[in-house]
Amino acid sequence: MKKIGILAVQGAFIEHEKMISDLGYSVVELRQKSDIKSLDGLVLPGGESTVQGKLLNDLDMLEPLKELISSNIPVLGTCAGLILLAQKISNDPNVYFGSLPVTVKRNAYGRQLGSFNCQSDFGAHRDVDMTFIRAPFIESASDDVEILSVVDEKIVAARYKNQIGISFHPELGTDTRVHEYFLSLA
Ligand code: GLN
Repeated sequence: MKKIGILAVQGAFIEHEKMISDLGYSVVELRQKSDIKSLDGLVLPGGESTVQGKLLNDLDMLEPLKELISSNIPVLGTCAGLILLAQKISNDPNVYFGSLPVTVKRNAYGRQLGSFNCQSDFGAHRDVDMTFIRAPFIESASDDVEILSVVDEKIVAARYKNQIGISFHPELGTDTRVHEYFLSLA
């Protein structure tokens, strides 16, 4: 059975675990460096990117995860996970993995639109459920990045090689198509 590692230092990892195990994969929570081994896929969940980034540094997990991402296994970064992957954050000086050639803006929807739901296209799929929670969006992407979703003229999902970066929370609700797409790469 294929094994998917889910970063579990902070944030919304439980819902990813449930969805991925319901889809027939084995999941392992990545809480420390020694958990990072023989994985067929990696999920970086939503949460608070600054907190996650600090914990990854403190736990010495940043470098091994960076290596894992460059080893070409499929990576799904959602919300804070997208921020961790981004090469640049326009309103924050930090860079974490810096492996996805996009510029993201954190908390990009402002206070009033902090959280909202909608349905929109994700790659070839129509009307995919999207829940945004104090979400980032992608302000710009390099030419070799495939744009998967655009909502209100903002890029909210994109793929570069093995990495998928998503602004919204595909693990909430019952629509499993984003996870199925990710797992199809595993
Ligand atoms: N606002 C969070 C951040 O900047 C991301 C929110 C989320 O992951 N739902 O890290």
